[in-house]
Amino acid sequence: MNVEQTTKWLALFAAKINDNKQYLSDLDSAIGDGDHGMNMARGTTEMQKALEEKQPDTLMDIFKLAGMQLVSKVGGASGPLYGSAFLGMAKAAKDSDDLATILEAGLEGIQKRGKAVAGEKTMIDTWVPVIAAVKANELTKEVVEQAAQSTIDMQATKGRASYLGERSIGHLDPGSVSSQYLFETMIEAGVI
Ligand code: ADP
Ligand code: MG
Ligand code: MG
Repeated sequence: MNVEQTTKWLALFAAKINDNKQYLSDLDSAIGDGDHGMNMARGTTEMQKALEEKQPDTLMDIFKLAGMQLVSKVGGASGPLYGSAFLGMAKAAKDSDDLATILEAGLEGIQKRGKAVAGEKTMIDTWVPVIAAVKANELTKEVVEQAAQSTIDMQATKGRASYLGERSIGHLDPGSVSSQYLFETMIEAGVI
């Protein structure tokens, strides 16, 4: 992956979050507190502004600036989680431009922070199958969407949705859908 693709990727991601913020918040209303879209849109808008102003010219600096903006501007549970993902990706991008390596470091960042594993109905459930598909050279938008959709049948055992217990089953996890947008725009930007 390179700087040009990655810059395009994050611009597309910010736009996609903004276009779908109401939908993301509606998903969060069903099993959480209804703010996921607004949280994400606030953060990705600030992220995009900072990227345009500073024009970082290495992968590491792009992810670092993005991560710092997300940590400080998104808020909620997802801000520190996406922030940790991007800061983990920045660290990995110091020594590598391999997409799978960088995404794995991002997932590690989320898991260090949030302690969730696959199957707990969180954004992790989008990240894990996507990374496996990247490694197998099989990533498509269908794979990404399917990963997010898989959370419908899961019971949440982390985050706010876990308060609902079994009643969380039957709903899409909002963070898995914002991560779906992250990886769909990654494909659209030609990163993979
Ligand atoms: P809050 O729950 O504080 O209002 P958001 O609504 O912005 O925060 O984000 C909720 C999303 O965060 C969930 O849909 C889920 O995907 C993700 N999430 C919550 N807790 C965790 C965790 N421990 N690990 C990974 N992702 C999590
Ligand atoms: Mg919320
Ligand atoms: Mg909240």
